[in-house]
Amino acid sequence: MSKIMRKKICILNTGGTILARGDKNGYEAGGLGFLDVFGSILEQFKPDTKKSKKDHFVFANFSLDIITPFSIGSQDMDNAHLLRLGKEAIKASKKYDFIIITHGSDTLEESAFFLSLLKEIKIGVILTASMYPPNDKNYDGTDNLEFALKSALKSDIKSVIVAMNGELLEPKKLIKFKSWGKDAFCQSLAFDIGILDFKHFSLPKALPKVAVIYADGQFYPSLYNLKSLKGVVLAGMGSGTLPKNAIKFFAKLKIPVVRSSRVAMPKITSKEVNDKKYGFINANHLSPAKAKVLLMLALSKKSKD
Ligand code: ASP
Repeated sequence: MSKIMRKKICILNTGGTILARGDKNGYEAGGLGFLDVFGSILEQFKPDTKKSKKDHFVFANFSLDIITPFSIGSQDMDNAHLLRLGKEAIKASKKYDFIIITHGSDTLEESAFFLSLLKEIKIGVILTASMYPPNDKNYDGTDNLEFALKSALKSDIKSVIVAMNGELLEPKKLIKFKSWGKDAFCQSLAFDIGILDFKHFSLPKALPKVAVIYADGQFYPSLYNLKSLKGVVLAGMGSGTLPKNAIKFFAKLKIPVVRSSRVAMPKITSKEVNDKKYGFINANHLSPAKAKVLLMLALSKKSKD
């Protein structure tokens, strides 16, 4: 008798609004467990009750393991959590055929981009989130999770992708462009005018201290003591412009200074700020948050070599 080939899927839960416990006053991101929210979806797929047990489900053509490495609001996704997520995803990529990650929507861009840059991840990974909590009538987590699961089952995805609101979105292009609505995410059009590929990195043991500094027309140099930093990303204006006193201040630093922009879809040019002259690095189409992820990985690689 031939052996049944089941796709082995792992769900990694990290918290977020998609698993929030809430009442009429507000909610706590990640307050609920996966089965509290999605148990009924799994029922729809008719698990084999004899073979399934707690956190392990067997279906006709796939199996599902549910793992919760941590459960936080993604606004708390610091370097330690990012590294832990990378570690868990790499571990799962050795054991499973596909990974689905439930995540908060606030830093979905950074986490998806971070995972997409890791050399060790060679299987399909879909991250998903929700914009409304389970107790809200607009809850979008069920549709998003179902979409992520169906995409994992039917597609041949071998990279890191984000599934939101019926769309599969590339991490490098992903933008959360508004704070409400199921359609809060889109892809940056900037990448259509300049294709940009990135080097991949091995997961480092630690990430260096890099900060994003937001700039507007009024810059106060005396606010910043950046001695302990290993790198800076500037969220400048427009094409990455900065006021003159900010250019002077950052040009003097002895650490890498990356120029990005606060606009939703950056295209950083050297037309108004001469990167060569000041020793700045152009973030091209990367948002400040994603430029920070790339800079941290690039610097941690360097320090290990
Ligand atoms: N603050 C929440 C989070 O990022 C928002 C969300 O998930 O939509 O965890």
